[in-house]
Amino acid sequence: MFLKQNTSNIVLLLCCCMLSLPLSLSAIPIPVHGHFTFDGNEFAARDFGNQLHSLPWAVLHPKKVSDVAATIKHVWQMGPAAAPTVAARGHGHSLLGQAQAPQGIVINMESLRGEMQVINGKSPYVDASAGELWINVLQHCLKHGLAPKSWTDYLHLTVGGTLSNAGISGQAFRHGPQISNVHQLEVITGKGEVVVCSQDKNADLFHSVLGGLGQFGIITRARISLEPAPKMVKWIRVLYSDFSTFARDQERLISAEKTFDYIEGLVIVNRTGLVNNWRSSFNPEDPDQANQFVSDGRTLFCLELTKNFNPGEEADIDKEIKSLLSELSYIPSTMFVTETSYVEFLDRVHTAELMLRSKGLWDLPHPWLNLLVPRSKIHTFADGVFGNILTDTNNGPVLIYPVNKSKWDNRTSFVTPDEDVFYLVAFLPHAAESDELQHLVNQNRRILNFCDSAQLGVKQYLPHYKTQEEWRAHFGPRWEIFAQRKSAYDPLAILAPGQRIFQKSI
Ligand code: FAD
Repeated sequence: MFLKQNTSNIVLLLCCCMLSLPLSLSAIPIPVHGHFTFDGNEFAARDFGNQLHSLPWAVLHPKKVSDVAATIKHVWQMGPAAAPTVAARGHGHSLLGQAQAPQGIVINMESLRGEMQVINGKSPYVDASAGELWINVLQHCLKHGLAPKSWTDYLHLTVGGTLSNAGISGQAFRHGPQISNVHQLEVITGKGEVVVCSQDKNADLFHSVLGGLGQFGIITRARISLEPAPKMVKWIRVLYSDFSTFARDQERLISAEKTFDYIEGLVIVNRTGLVNNWRSSFNPEDPDQANQFVSDGRTLFCLELTKNFNPGEEADIDKEIKSLLSELSYIPSTMFVTETSYVEFLDRVHTAELMLRSKGLWDLPHPWLNLLVPRSKIHTFADGVFGNILTDTNNGPVLIYPVNKSKWDNRTSFVTPDEDVFYLVAFLPHAAESDELQHLVNQNRRILNFCDSAQLGVKQYLPHYKTQEEWRAHFGPRWEIFAQRKSAYDPLAILAPGQRIFQKSI
């Protein structure tokens, strides 16, 4: 029905861009410098999760911010019944269709990549296009000896894509997530208005959009906070067999003033030859003792740490690391360390990506589950899930690390558990076979059911729900403000339909 009613509108839109002329259906000029595609848009129906695939009706490949604004304005002026939905697509690394727009318009944000500008003053920053990949932002900033402060584990994601979620990694305990490290945004609302916003200017839109799941506007540029970039990192792994000791050490490290620069952790269940595999890139502190260590059949917890340094500082850094490690209670024979450049460390998942791609293991379905678990419930969670519901981790890593809530801004759209410290627990498997996929989906369901029945107060990160009831429960008392912001900035509910939070008005 939508197609029949609106075919002429979109064709006119098509004519506009093909001819690069200001044409319109209802006397609205649409000067587009980029172009639309109506065929060959299969890429826009795919994502990293590789489980849901919905073809859009058209894809806009904008060349200028004004292309995005003009298109959304045009859609907004088509009115509630006729307007198609619109989804910004960053690098399409969502898990369950969040960047898709079934029969709507997908905006390919990567085609907007442009110049980046670094300002190296008292509070240095970079202005980058929201369609830029974080790896490119890093490479550009390094030319000025600077780098963003807060990261994701994988850098081949767009600025707009991670800022629409949170952007969490092992630096978040100190700097907060990426959404806590942005000075200013340029946003196009669901009415097609271009608005520059910050803490001081249009602050409500600024906070709405950060962690806003693409619901309130399309971010076109971001001003990201920078710090001096170190050249090198010492990268350390140690193992624990007891969860309580592991969690106590992690929590101690994230609250200490003198600590590591990056703190994460892994759950390892029933992995064969674990420390042997590490040897290809890490060196055991005590090779003989490490040789005796057996991981098979065990549930282990790996603390992963880094300390940044520059050439000439190595002796001091080694001393500092030794002192920090002396406070911890890991299994002594399991200490492994390596040294690498800062870039290689930050881009480490890309190295794994290349290896997985070569084995045909990258483009598989990824039934991932990311949870934020309050500190007071993490032991109940660990008892119920690790080694119990989760019987091995051979299909992909399981991450676990705590962060400090004080580093999150509760005016953003992001909802966290209501405690000073909460853990990110990320189950990140791939499924090579369809029965494996089913098994992993069921396992996720069992984990979520366990959290519900034990009333752990867990929040999903990169959430996926099918009903608005579930979204209301996710946002809890923050739902009302989330819904009010939607009516203010995207009243027709055009934007980011793949999140399935609001139904477009008809
Ligand atoms: P997309 O998937 O393209 O879009 C995600 C959502 O944001 C969609 O709803 C889309 O409509 C919206 N959107 C995209 N661009 C914009 C924009 N410019 N303005 C408004 N809305 C927009 N996350 C972490 O926090 N930490 C990690 O360590 C981490 N590691 C990851 C590793 C891998 C291998 C993968 C695949 C994902 C990882 N993620 C991590 C998750 C990742 O941050 C999110 O999936 C993110 O959304 C991906 O960015 P993208 O550019 O692919 O966004």
